[in-house]
Amino acid sequence: MKKVARVAFVTGSARGIGKGVALCLAKRGWNLAINYVSSKDAAETTAQECQSHGVESCVIRADVGDTQSHEAVIEEIHSKMGRIDLLVNNAGIGVKQRMDLLDASTESFDQLINTNLRGPYFLTQKMARYFIAQQKKLSEYQPKIIFVTSISAYTSSPMRGEYCVSKAGLSMATKVFADRLAENGIPVYEIRPGVIQTDMTSVVKDKYDALIAGGLTPIKRWGQPEDIGQAVIALAEGLFPFSTGDVFNVDGGFHLHRL
Ligand code: NAP
Repeated sequence: MKKVARVAFVTGSARGIGKGVALCLAKRGWNLAINYVSSKDAAETTAQECQSHGVESCVIRADVGDTQSHEAVIEEIHSKMGRIDLLVNNAGIGVKQRMDLLDASTESFDQLINTNLRGPYFLTQKMARYFIAQQKKLSEYQPKIIFVTSISAYTSSPMRGEYCVSKAGLSMATKVFADRLAENGIPVYEIRPGVIQTDMTSVVKDKYDALIAGGLTPIKRWGQPEDIGQAVIALAEGLFPFSTGDVFNVDGGFHLHRL
């Protein structure tokens, strides 16, 4: 009997970490809903690259911060792909301008919280309801949720405090959803990337090149989007059946306290 292909919805998967995650999933036979907010061409390219691995994909334009659109987004993916088995809350933004904590604006704070925390929080709420409804209809259905947070969830950067606060909040979102959804058999995980080579970090490349060379991380290299993709595979494919609410550090050992 042919195995049913599962469907993953990876937010912000036109480029960067989200693209790396999507391609890793595609290589493992997952069908993909590729999401973008502004990078339409890149999203279409990512979707085609997924298809080159023999899977199906669709492109979904959606702003994760727009909570009013979440139900329609889930319906759109369901109607295009037939099912959804995995939500990877990856989309996120950095600060437009690094600014001292004592000068940073409420506008920047609100924007970061809206996109990085409020949006994924309520998208997850809607997706959880969808998963629970689908459990009644499908057999062998094992939906899962993954939040992509950051080492900034626990590392202070006073020049971008609102980013740190948004990621700390997202880390707690993992825990409360994991707690609530355990009774429904839906595991929820946090992947905490370290310094990953993407557009987001391209503006501070020289700074991080020097820090990494100087021993910032025990594993002396930039992380790559595929590093996060591999962690997603392990969680999405059920290799941690007795875990939920856990943090998976993918940071080259950044989190270790060293002496
Ligand atoms: P990136 O290269 O800047 O890519 C961000 C992605 O998120 C893009 O695909 C973008 O879509 C999408 N996005 C942004 N705002 C969105 C919105 N409102 N709705 C839907 N999609 C939106 O960033 P990245 O480095 O891949 O980061 C991905 C995630 O990992 C973020 O949550 C980030 O905070 C986190 N992270 C990154 C690092 C790192 O070192 N790079 C480290 C720790 C955590 P468009 O292209 O359409 O604009």
